[in-house]
Amino acid sequence: MAINIAIDGPAGAGKSTIAKKVSKELGFIYVDTGALYRTVGLNVLRQGKNTKSEEEVVPTLEGVNVSLRFIDGEQRVFLGDEDVSEAIRQNEVSMAASNVSAIPKVREFLFSLQRNIAAENNCIMDGRDIGTVVLPDAQIKIYLTASAEARAERRYKELIEKGQTVVFDEILKDIELRDYQDTHREIAPLKKADDAILVDTTNLDLEGSIEYMLKVIKERL
Ligand code: C5P
Repeated sequence: MAINIAIDGPAGAGKSTIAKKVSKELGFIYVDTGALYRTVGLNVLRQGKNTKSEEEVVPTLEGVNVSLRFIDGEQRVFLGDEDVSEAIRQNEVSMAASNVSAIPKVREFLFSLQRNIAAENNCIMDGRDIGTVVLPDAQIKIYLTASAEARAERRYKELIEKGQTVVFDEILKDIELRDYQDTHREIAPLKKADDAILVDTTNLDLEGSIEYMLKVIKERL
C-alpha cells in the first residue's frame, strides 16, 4: 500500500517549498493539488469567462484534460498538451483558482485524479482538503500554517524574485481574501482535520520548518 502524507493549510504557509524538500528526502513524489485548481482557473480566464459564475465555469470543464506528469520527480501540470506549470503562477490566476475551487463540479472533476495518484505512489500531497476529503485515510496529516503577515511577506519576496511588479498590501489583502473564501466555502472548506498535527511556521525560517517537518514525519513513519 502506498504511503500518503497529507499537508493542508492556507496560502503561503510554505506548504509547497517545504513539501518539495521533504518529499525528496523521503523519496516520495510531491503532488501540489493547488496547481490543478489553478489550471482550471487559467482555462476559465483564457476563455474570458467569469471565474465566480458556476454557469460559466462548468461548461469549460467539458472536453478539457488536466493532468499531472512527473519528470525527474518534479511535477508538471498540463492543460491538454500544453505545459502550463509557469503560466498558472501569475498572480491573477491565484484568485481565479480560489473562485473556481468553490464550485462543487470543479472539485468533483479533480477528485479522482488526486485519488489515483495517491493510490499508486508514496506521496506528499498538499492542498486545502487533502486530510479531510481527498485522503481521509492518509497515514500522516499535517496542518501547516503561519500568520497572514508572515505569509504575505514570503509571497511578496517570491514574486519580486521572479521579477513581477507587486505591492505588499495587495498581496496581504489577496491572502486574507483567499483565506476567507477557502475557509468559508460550503464544499470542502479549508480546515484542520481532527487527526492532523498542527505546525505553525510564523517564527521558523525555511530550514527550521523543513527540519521540524522531517522530524514530525520520521517519528511517525
Ligand atoms: O495552493 P495554491 O495557493 O496554489 O491553491 C490555489 C487555490 O486553489 C487555493 O486558494 C484554493 O482555493 C484552491 N485549492 C483548493 N483545494 C486544494 C488546493 C487548492 O480549493 N486541495
